[in-house]
Amino acid sequence: MNILVVGAGPAGTRCATLLAERLAAAGVTLVGEEAVAPYDRVALGKLLTGTADLAALTTHTPAALAAAGVTFRPGQRIARIDRDMRQAIATDGTALPYDVLVLATGSRAVRLPLPGAERAVLYRDIVDVDAMRAAAAEGGAAAVIGGGLLGLEAAAGLLALGMTVTVIHPMGWPMERQLDDGAGARLAATLQAQGLRFAMPAATAAIEAEGVRLKDGALVPARLVVLAVGVRPETTLAREAGLPAGRGILVDNAMRTADPAIFAIGECAEHDGEVCGLVAPALAQAAVAAAAIAGEAARYAPRPDAAALKVSGIPVWSAGAIAAADAEAITLACEESGEYRRLWLRGDKLVGAVLFGQTDDSGFYLDLISSGRAVPPLRAALALGPEYCGDAA
Ligand SMILES: Cc1cc2nc3c(=O)[nH]c(=O)nc-3n(C[C@H](O)[C@H](O)[C@H](O)COP(=O)(O)OP(=O)(O)OC[C@H]3O[C@@H](n4cnc5c(N)ncnc54)[C@H](O)[C@@H]3O)c2cc1C
Repeated sequence: MNILVVGAGPAGTRCATLLAERLAAAGVTLVGEEAVAPYDRVALGKLLTGTADLAALTTHTPAALAAAGVTFRPGQRIARIDRDMRQAIATDGTALPYDVLVLATGSRAVRLPLPGAERAVLYRDIVDVDAMRAAAAEGGAAAVIGGGLLGLEAAAGLLALGMTVTVIHPMGWPMERQLDDGAGARLAATLQAQGLRFAMPAATAAIEAEGVRLKDGALVPARLVVLAVGVRPETTLAREAGLPAGRGILVDNAMRTADPAIFAIGECAEHDGEVCGLVAPALAQAAVAAAAIAGEAARYAPRPDAAALKVSGIPVWSAGAIAAADAEAITLACEESGEYRRLWLRGDKLVGAVLFGQTDDSGFYLDLISSGRAVPPLRAALALGPEYCGDAA
């Protein structure tokens, strides 16, 4: 049996190695358009700041993949899939046959349709990080458009490299998808104290040679502009092959697409209306697909997303439904320590949590959110952490 995995990101690489382990008699091929061996995309910030090199980020060397029984084809982009012939055809014309095809093509960073957007660098892969480092080597000012997790990570990295950095963000506080206004304002203040500048809320009109032009006419001067405004699932191959896709490639509980010979996993897949944007669910989906291909009963069961900011030494964590309109909120804020917690409840269930300044209890809250267990009757105690919650802990 020929198993072909397209996309050598975390999901594709995990699926390929699991399959080679489970189905020793099968031929497992992993093809990826990036020129390098699979690496830890989550740790790209370390490559940006120079605290780790590519070797340290590499998760599977070509030799390790070969030893694991995976034929690895780096630097090869698949241009189309011929479902009738069961072949994937690369841009260089090579036809790779398959009995089972796994699409693990991830996401692309979005390039906003702004005048001058082609001047901006994205933040998704090693090539982007090399471009940022090359620009940072000359110093000066940088602007990062987008104050989400990735934008803040890029901004903190460029700041650490000695650039003057302004984050341009359309909302009232950074990371508004993960944080409420209280935690967001505290995060912005802490980052400002570290030297980061914010233009917020601010709308971008154009990227010009001198910097970023805002809609109100002001110019944020910048030699380097980074666009970190979100990602879009890479579904082109599947769509052009006639596979149903919404935001991502539609899959069932076993990560199988509408074609029984084709699976989709990771950020390119849409399961039950959701597209994942984190590495943990992408890896869980890879394991489910590998088990299903090996003939085992397997079912993907999503867990609530939890997000943590990795940069700037500020403990920030959130999970579940943040600021849901129909949920009751409990807030704990300590002016002295700067610690802040906000929890959201529906009835006796915890549905969302934000922790700022102290995140040691994140596991406790994530467990309550995922399990749907009833919270203790004394609700105020919940914000104090597990040691105050008796049996519920
Ligand atoms: C800077 C950064 C920091 C991050 N930090 C975190 C974090 O702290 N925590 C977290 O959970 N997640 C984080 N993420 C997100 C995490 O990296 C992704 O969720 C994860 O990489 C998704 O894995 P994937 O395999 O689905 O897709 P990807 O990692 O996108 O891999 C897809 C691969 O497929 C290749 N490909 C696409 N099309 C083709 C084609 N036609 N032919 C051949 N190859 C193709 C792509 O080049 C890519 O190498 C971060 C992402 C970035 C960019």
